[in-house]
Amino acid sequence: MAKKFDVAVIGAGPGGYIAAIRAAQLGLNTVCIDEFKSEDGKPSLGGTCLNVGCIPSKALLESSENYERALHKFADHGIKCKDVSLDVATMLGRKDNIVQQFTGGIALLFKKNKVASVHGHGRLTGAGDYYRIAVTRDNGSETIDAKHVIIATGSLPRQIEGITVDNVRICDNVGALSLKDVPGKLGVIGAGVIGLEMGSVWRRLGSEVTVLEALPTFLAAADDAVAREALRIFTKTVGLDIKLGCRIGSVETGKKSISVEFEYEGESRKLTFDRLVVAVGRVPNTEGLGVESVGVKTDERGFIEVDERNRTGVPNIYAIGDVVRGPMLAHKSSEEGVAVAETIAGQHGHVNLETIPWVIYTSPEIAWVGKTEQQLKAEGVEYRSGQFPFIVSGRARALGETAGFVKMLADAKSDRILGVHILGPFASELIAEAVVAMEFGATAEDIARIVHAHPSLSEAMHEAALGVDKRFLSL
Ligand code: FAD
Ligand code: AMP
Repeated sequence: MAKKFDVAVIGAGPGGYIAAIRAAQLGLNTVCIDEFKSEDGKPSLGGTCLNVGCIPSKALLESSENYERALHKFADHGIKCKDVSLDVATMLGRKDNIVQQFTGGIALLFKKNKVASVHGHGRLTGAGDYYRIAVTRDNGSETIDAKHVIIATGSLPRQIEGITVDNVRICDNVGALSLKDVPGKLGVIGAGVIGLEMGSVWRRLGSEVTVLEALPTFLAAADDAVAREALRIFTKTVGLDIKLGCRIGSVETGKKSISVEFEYEGESRKLTFDRLVVAVGRVPNTEGLGVESVGVKTDERGFIEVDERNRTGVPNIYAIGDVVRGPMLAHKSSEEGVAVAETIAGQHGHVNLETIPWVIYTSPEIAWVGKTEQQLKAEGVEYRSGQFPFIVSGRARALGETAGFVKMLADAKSDRILGVHILGPFASELIAEAVVAMEFGATAEDIARIVHAHPSLSEAMHEAALGVDKRFLSL
């Protein structure tokens, strides 16, 4: 006999688990189906983000940054560290503990909110009064019927033909977060968010890192000024060898090393590495999901087609997160989850895709919201801009993190903020002010007239806003 629910969520990543919790809070009888298993084969909630994405990567970024500080930065403060050494196993253990605390926390949140949690692979098998979902797992199967379905099946690493990922020597994000020792030479294919974050971790821990990127431009989605300065810093200070405009040829795995042939600057090149990370983006995951059985459509790139309210066009079936259009970011998935749960409960759920903050947790961090300068130019929008460097910020100087700047773009006539771009310390935190400002339709003058604490990094946002009107006070 099938168990009956008001809402079935397929996938317990940040999209799915949040959708399930919100639906249950709104009084809907909700089940969340998830198939993810951790390395030890146990079910583990939280999807890519908690298990093999956002959380473990940030844990390793922090650990590796501390190691780097102890090696190279504490001396400036008069702190002498003798015999600094690295224990990779402890570092990975700390990361695994953080992951387990969070994934276990989701199970508790499900209990607290009365979300039924079912482990297994969910496949839509058809529609009647209810949608039917067959759930299969190693030790059995069950059937679930639901009036509403939220597809939150996320994404998988994109593969390059001819390169076999074994997650020991050639890794995607899963292996790159668990290398048992520091490779002497690490190759990274793809200079996107994941490639740069993983490259930074292992570079700081001692690897010689070469990043091979297909596109001739660096971080094409970021504001040009940010991308240019970030490339300079990542190359000169961080020590990543970033080669843009590469065409990857054959990849051969020998007994001890991996050799990668590629074309670069019109020449055939070959490099050998101890480990290789493939980080060339992610693809929507609809594997074995049975969307065709209920008429849900996917586009030519495999994303589930949805409208602005995440409706698939098939009544009562919604899709959210990485499996649909828009940025592949955890917070975007979660907000879509909330919006869809509220829509199902008869409220008016809504997500503003124009004000989703983007963050890259490199050092310095990169964060932005809204339009880039190149987008405004292409759209023919008249704008004014203010850019304030962290080198002039007292707090940044005290931190010893003076690279980068805050750049604000505002409409030339209305002064409304159109985009904010940050390269610098705690950019991930600073961007929140810009998101709030843009959501409330603030002008640059609004930020310029708000009191910012001194000395704080947020003063750089204040000064960038003043700079829009060409009246810097500290520059
Ligand atoms: P997912 O998190 O992918 O979850 C989908 C879940 O559904 C998985 O558990 C999967 O096993 C399950 N599933 C799939 N199909 C089925 C099925 N048929 N039946 C049952 N279960 C199924 N984003 C940020 O915002 N900030 C970051 O710092 C950040 N860092 C990242 C670092 C790395 C290394 C990676 C790889 C990603 C990072 N991301 C980050 C992206 C972020 O992880 C994703 O955007 C987010 O996880 C997407 O959430 P989701 O709920 O859509 O899907
Ligand atoms: P992201 O989408 O942020 O994870 O970034 C993925 C990066 O990989 C982008 O910069 C892509 O241009 C890059 N990329 C995609 N395919 C290839 C490839 N075959 N070789 C090298 N880089 C690639």
